[in-house]
Amino acid sequence: MEPKYIFVTGGVVSSLGKGIISASLASLLKARGFRVTIQKFDPYINIDPGTLNPYEHGECYVTVDGHEADLDLGHYERFTNTQTTRANNITTGRIYQNVIDKERRGDYLGKTVQIIPHITDEIKRNVRLLGNTGNFDFIITEIGGTVGDIESLPFIESVRQLRWELGQNCICIHLTYVPYIAAAKELKTKPTQHSVKQLQEVGIQPDILVLRTEKEILPEMRRKIAQFCNVSPDAVIQSIDVPSIYEVPIKMHEQHLDELVLRKCGVPVEGEPHMKPWMHFLEKMNRATETVTIGLVGKYVELQDAYKSINEALFQAATVNDHKLNLKFIHSEKLTEENVEETLRPMDGVVIAPGFGHRGIDGKFVALKWCRENDVPTFGICLGMQCMVIEFARNVLGMTDANSTEMDTKTPYNVIDLMEAQKSISNLGGTMRLGAFDCTLRPGSRAAEAYGKTEVSERHRHRFEFNNEYRERFEQAGMQCVGENPTTHLVEVVELPDHRWFIGTQYHPEYSSTVLSPNPIFVSFVKAAIEYQHSK
Ligand code: GLN
Repeated sequence: MEPKYIFVTGGVVSSLGKGIISASLASLLKARGFRVTIQKFDPYINIDPGTLNPYEHGECYVTVDGHEADLDLGHYERFTNTQTTRANNITTGRIYQNVIDKERRGDYLGKTVQIIPHITDEIKRNVRLLGNTGNFDFIITEIGGTVGDIESLPFIESVRQLRWELGQNCICIHLTYVPYIAAAKELKTKPTQHSVKQLQEVGIQPDILVLRTEKEILPEMRRKIAQFCNVSPDAVIQSIDVPSIYEVPIKMHEQHLDELVLRKCGVPVEGEPHMKPWMHFLEKMNRATETVTIGLVGKYVELQDAYKSINEALFQAATVNDHKLNLKFIHSEKLTEENVEETLRPMDGVVIAPGFGHRGIDGKFVALKWCRENDVPTFGICLGMQCMVIEFARNVLGMTDANSTEMDTKTPYNVIDLMEAQKSISNLGGTMRLGAFDCTLRPGSRAAEAYGKTEVSERHRHRFEFNNEYRERFEQAGMQCVGENPTTHLVEVVELPDHRWFIGTQYHPEYSSTVLSPNPIFVSFVKAAIEYQHSK
């Protein structure tokens, strides 16, 4: 079958969850046996979100091929259990960079380079890249931002042109908001009408409307919206608030979103999607009564999206362990010797978060010392792992001023140091050690036991590493380097075998954790936390 293109646009306000709707539709189509991929087009001028502060845009997600990507790609992978790549996330910056490079090469043969057709052609070329591989039946393209933004205009114009070029192989889903006015006790459809009008003004007639709402939208209101917006009443779908984002695919299927998409694309509708494994996860999620309490020590705790993938990986791990997750964010800047006991004592397990720079680092050392001495299950990720090494050096090996050269270039004990390959790099964007690399685990180690194998591949995003010159001293004192890269011998995993569960990974296992296959090291950590809770 020819590839079908589904565009997802948003109106009224941002943060409506286009990513979740796109991912839910993808999971349903995949469960019907189709080959599906999702891509996100972001209207900002940064080449990628790698240089963005989490305050700007939440977590930076990393694909296997080493692309620093929008966090929506994390939802796509978690929902579809399919890996994304560099081609799945394009920004205005990248589009312009490509066009300007072509112009400098002389590819435009003396023509004036303009938004239409050159920028829109480049956007269209990128939209079709994944479809042209022949690997996919459906390409879902989420357009970031809201219709009407100046920044997203070239993308919207490209969608208009593609609809024309692709005919029935292309549909448009528009996501809007139906606010509930509490004083009037009424849902209001006007913002949706305006938003659809705005889309129509730029030449796009949506095929399906998905309405975000806090209250049930009754059939007559849906009919009214359908009438005003030129769509059929069955193509007006509500996306009502649900306790877990993982219920959204089911809610969409109940309203036949997947069937509707197939029909509109001219694909015969046969049978039902195979959602059994997904339902099994939801059943476990809804059946769980016991709670496991995990403390996440980091400096971005006031931001719900800053550690998105870690939250989700912990949630998935708690669910497969038949527990509810009670995740407590602990501000590393507020953690001191005086309050660490009362703060961490109620935790069944503690995660030390990844990060960059000095801010909040001392609280991570305080937490680690307390967890190590009190035998609390502890998981350090990336900077968290590096902090484990530094804390151990200072308090066990007696290297008082041990540090990472990221925090102190003059430390006498540079137990964490800049990677050799990083020393000649001056640009910040896209230059870290990025993407999936192999890691060999020591047989018999707790990490190997967790994975059930000794060869794994996980994703990275860092410039600094464990300094191998100190390896022997650490191992003799009890901190084992149980995972390393088979070619470069970079230390990937450290653990304390005498401890209940004390593991640090230089890589980010959270990026590969999905609903249908939660990451084993998270599952093992949460299991240890539950066992610790029972022993308390
Ligand atoms: N700042 C550390 C490094 O660059 C850790 C990075 C991270 O936690 N992602 O090595």
